[in-house]
Amino acid sequence: MAQESKKIAIVGAGSVGATIAYACLIRGVSPRIALYDTNRPIVEAQTLDLVHGLQFVPAAAVEGSDDIAVCARADVVVITAGASQKPGQTRMELAEVNTAICKRLLPELLRVAPEATILVVTNPVDVLTHVTLKVSGLPARRVLGSGTVLDSSRFRYLIARRCNVAVPNVHAVIAGEHGDSEIPLWSSATIANIPLHEWAVMGHGKLTVRDRTDIFQNVKSSADQIIAGKGATNYAIGLATTRILEALLNDENRVMPVSALLHEYRGISDVCISVPRIVNCAGAGMALPTPMNDAEVAGLRNSADKVREALKPLGF
Ligand code: NAD
Repeated sequence: MAQESKKIAIVGAGSVGATIAYACLIRGVSPRIALYDTNRPIVEAQTLDLVHGLQFVPAAAVEGSDDIAVCARADVVVITAGASQKPGQTRMELAEVNTAICKRLLPELLRVAPEATILVVTNPVDVLTHVTLKVSGLPARRVLGSGTVLDSSRFRYLIARRCNVAVPNVHAVIAGEHGDSEIPLWSSATIANIPLHEWAVMGHGKLTVRDRTDIFQNVKSSADQIIAGKGATNYAIGLATTRILEALLNDENRVMPVSALLHEYRGISDVCISVPRIVNCAGAGMALPTPMNDAEVAGLRNSADKVREALKPLGF
């Protein structure tokens, strides 16, 4: 019997879910994409809009439904269902309502797609990744969150702009919670193998403490700035999630700061936050021993504590 081609199921066909589907289509990530949403008019409209572009992208099929059976036998399920941040709201304020959605959804999802790896995007993503892991009972590597992949790409963009180099030449990571307690790993940041702290910007010299503070504050306030202007963030998270999906489906062994369960990592256990990991078809692999100075390790532990604090009132 011919092997079935890979399938991605996206739960939640709002701005983020639909943009992930759109980016996956353009990049030819998977020949089968399913969209599931409890809001039938939304899922039908998004699906129609996507299939009308099939002529212009690598061959693929898109199905959408308010019946969860559309997710059947998916290789990867991406969860974007739930409330999103309103202007002035923090990600953590979404925890209760999105945890309830996730708890209701998971048994049904696992019934139709028992072999799937689950990629969580819904916020607060670290909390929801932990909830998904515990409620599903899946092996730890099969549940991961988009974590700080997006924050790290914002970070790399801002460093690249300040240092006047192309984004792909910057290697720098934001670790910890995707949220207020996240930490920039300045000590390991490089541009074309040159440590960032040695990089001199033409006409300016090395980055000052003020430069770094501005860059990091800008990373942290990016989502608020975008939400204030257009109500939601969707393009960069769409592309970031698509990149994680490529690593999962193509077994790429790509190093990315995804959120997944940490076990005895620099004194941190039993919480999902982001550190660089190898991502491949088995899911979120080993957490890498990325160099960190003492302040960064302390920041990472503090970030883990913040996520744990948010999990407690939810019963986890
Ligand atoms: P949205 O409101 O546009 O879409 C959410 C969709 O989920 C809606 O269409 C809704 O009908 C659907 N939904 C709700 N309950 C459902 C259920 N039980 N089953 C299936 N579908 C259900 O919101 P959005 O802007 O697409 O954001 C979605 C989530 O992604 C939010 O939590 C947001 O904060 C998060 N987000 C995460 C990141 C990240 O970096 N992790 C970035 C951007 C947005």
